[in-house]
Amino acid sequence: MSLQDYKGVFVFVQQVDNVITPVSFELIGKGKELANDLDTEVTAVVLGSKIDAMGKELARHGADRVIMVDDPALEVYTTEPYVHAFTEIINKYKPEVVLFGATAIGRDMAPRVSARVHTGLTADCTKLEINPEDKGLMMTRPAFGGNIMATILCPDHRPQMSTVRPGVMQKLPTNDAAECEVIKEEVAGLSDHMNVEVMEIVKTVAEKMDIQDAKILVSGGRGMASPENFKLLEDLADALGGTISSSRACVDAGWVEKDRQVGQTGKTVRPNLYIACGISGAIQHLAGMEESDVIIAINKDETAPIFNVADFGVVGDVFKILPLFTEAVKKEMA
Ligand code: FAD
Repeated sequence: MSLQDYKGVFVFVQQVDNVITPVSFELIGKGKELANDLDTEVTAVVLGSKIDAMGKELARHGADRVIMVDDPALEVYTTEPYVHAFTEIINKYKPEVVLFGATAIGRDMAPRVSARVHTGLTADCTKLEINPEDKGLMMTRPAFGGNIMATILCPDHRPQMSTVRPGVMQKLPTNDAAECEVIKEEVAGLSDHMNVEVMEIVKTVAEKMDIQDAKILVSGGRGMASPENFKLLEDLADALGGTISSSRACVDAGWVEKDRQVGQTGKTVRPNLYIACGISGAIQHLAGMEESDVIIAINKDETAPIFNVADFGVVGDVFKILPLFTEAVKKEMA
């Protein structure tokens, strides 16, 4: 079979408790753009149990076609049945591009699937484009600690596979009237692949909003000087109806939980408003927030690189400015 025989863009749709994870919609958005450039379709592949209702939801978000594998062995994610089912789908349909979210599940599945179909995988991509000349997929990701962006090609094997971090690509606007073809596939003997038994699922309840869902983020860096001073950020976030996030320096210092970290080794965020307080703007931090709609930076060093990406900059002491800022917001909202 030649490379030209591989057709179509496939997106692995992650669901947990039969709720589709948002990154899947972001990948359908990107997949559609790639499919247009390749003159083909974007197919959403969803694995699970009792997942009928998801066909309509995936069509609303732009899928041209949905392939479902509905099997009790896929009710809760475990590696082997999922990897086996997805590999069978790839072997049958032979897509030219396959995208996964770089979530815990996507990162578990994608390398195994790529090894089984004898192709490569580019992890944690931040940009995906079709080369207009040879129609190959150009997969770009940070390399060498984020100091360079590397564009990786997969010229000799198909499919071209990549994982993409949540929050990097954009969803399409939903279309309630959209319909698409839904194909139900059966993969024989999936329960034979269940080599792990899930005894119990323990869920942690997040007290704060996920930073990737927040429209407003008030983010603190080492310039906040101590974990107690994060109260100033919380006050402003509360006044604005947002939540707090931070640079890695504060996570490494144990001031803030890891799930608040923005950046290359944290989360990628795209809020309407990002307020960076006492953050220098290292390249690894910028990689996670520079696509925010509006960025305000407060830093006492006027040469701090954060000002290069800020829409509004305040040169000054966070401890003086933050209380005034919060006060002004409260007055405005009253
Ligand atoms: P600093 O760089 O120390 O900056 C503190 C800033 O606060 C300074 O600009 C200072 O002028 C200002 N300041 C101090 N006091 C005040 C005050 N009173 N008022 C106003 N301003 C004040 N970093 C991330 O954030 N996210 C990542 O995901 C990430 N991943 C990484 C991955 C790799 C492989 C590597 C090598 C590094 C990574 N980093 C990441 C770390 C990154 O390089 C920086 O070290 C980190 O972002 C610095 O955090 P910071 O801006 O809070 O601290």
